Amino acid sequence: MDFSIPSHVQDIVRRVREFVDTEVIPLEPYIHRVERGGLTPEMLTSLRAKAKLAGLWAPQLPPQLGGLGLSLQEIVPVFETAGRSLLGPLALNCAAPDEGNMHLLHLFASEEQTERYLKPLAAGEIRSAFAMTEPPPGAGSDPNMLQTSAVRDGDHWVINGHKWFTSGAEGAAFLIIMARTNPDVPTHKGATIFLAPLDTPGIEIVRLVPTMGADDLGGHPEVKFHDLRLPHSAILGEEGQGFMLTQARLGPARLTHCMRWTGIAQRALEIATQYASEREAFGNRLTGHQAVQWMLADSATELHAGRLMIQQAAWLLAQGQQARQETSMCKVFVAETVNRVIDRAIQICGGKGITRDLPLSTWYEAARAFRIYDGASEVHRMVIARQVVKQYAQ
Ligand SMILES: Cc1cc2nc3c(=O)[nH]c(=O)nc-3n(C[C@H](O)[C@H](O)[C@H](O)COP(=O)(O)OP(=O)(O)OC[C@H]3O[C@@H](n4cnc5c(N)ncnc54)[C@H](O)[C@@H]3O)c2cc1C
Repeated sequence: MDFSIPSHVQDIVRRVREFVDTEVIPLEPYIHRVERGGLTPEMLTSLRAKAKLAGLWAPQLPPQLGGLGLSLQEIVPVFETAGRSLLGPLALNCAAPDEGNMHLLHLFASEEQTERYLKPLAAGEIRSAFAMTEPPPGAGSDPNMLQTSAVRDGDHWVINGHKWFTSGAEGAAFLIIMARTNPDVPTHKGATIFLAPLDTPGIEIVRLVPTMGADDLGGHPEVKFHDLRLPHSAILGEEGQGFMLTQARLGPARLTHCMRWTGIAQRALEIATQYASEREAFGNRLTGHQAVQWMLADSATELHAGRLMIQQAAWLLAQGQQARQETSMCKVFVAETVNRVIDRAIQICGGKGITRDLPLSTWYEAARAFRIYDGASEVHRMVIARQVVKQYAQ
């Protein structure tokens, strides 16, 4: 096993770190709901222009799409460094949901879909959203409960349904919609993905669902489809392949979430370490108290383990393996680690940890969702346990 990071990747990591420190972190108050009005489109455009100028745009995309052409393994430290701020990945065009959506389109889009959707998305000219989850009684943890239907009408499809948590949909140029095209077979055979411009008649953004955490660009809207009429050419891949395509998106997307969140957790640990190094109590620096030392040690150890799990799962995916068990293990472990590390950092910083003077309180709120989206921890444990039992039976 070779754990060394190639020198060209080290160079990118160093430059991303400098960019995040000098250009990104100063803008954090606008998404942490500290500065009123949030991050304006002009601020984001200017930040992204600086990222392009610095040669840091879209590390994960191939050069023909304007990216740096790094492999899944190579982006591990780059995404972590960009992820030191919730705004960093957005600046570099490697944030969710666009990053996962670009990956999906890169794998499966037709030439026409590539021109219309992928290229402007890769250039940062437009944004996208992925509409899978539905409110009860529709699909949530269990995709078999998918209710949104698409019915064929000549050369067109007519879609009706109700989604929510369509992250980024407000202001997006298009939606990636999962709908059931064959109600007589299980979802993994009867679901299809459609691409729909947001201004197509029949798409209603009902409301931006208010959530805890930072201001995420485009929110997490509730969306309804009323007789949304799309041409057959709006299908991504083939009819009935929706579930298979989603799996191709979700495996790497779970890992990239883990990479970015590791960056936030690492910074939380650094903030806690700085506070503990300067603050005194009972005649000693906080770093001199064993209870604090153990919190720092546990956080550093868990982050180290998470990084190795990410690297190994990325390596398996790069070998062409599905790595379902490993990506699930990674998702559970890193999501729970990130929540614990931020929680400990708040504890170490005492009352200051609760204030908005530090970013910890916003991260604490924002990280909570990571244990739910892209599969709740319980669902991933179910996947892992199934494999354990299967292996035992064999
Ligand atoms: C901030 C945020 C952003 C999101 N962005 C998107 C997006 O862009 N696109 C999209 O389509 N979706 C998105 N989601 C939705 C997300 O993927 C779902 O919330 C998630 O899949 C869980 O579905 P659910 O909320 O319906 O929970 P439910 O299915 O109602 O499950 C509720 C809880 O039940 C438990 N549970 C479920 N199954 C099991 C089981 N087998 N064993 C034990 N316990 C179980 C878990 O604790 C789970 O949290 C987002 C969610 C959040 C919070």
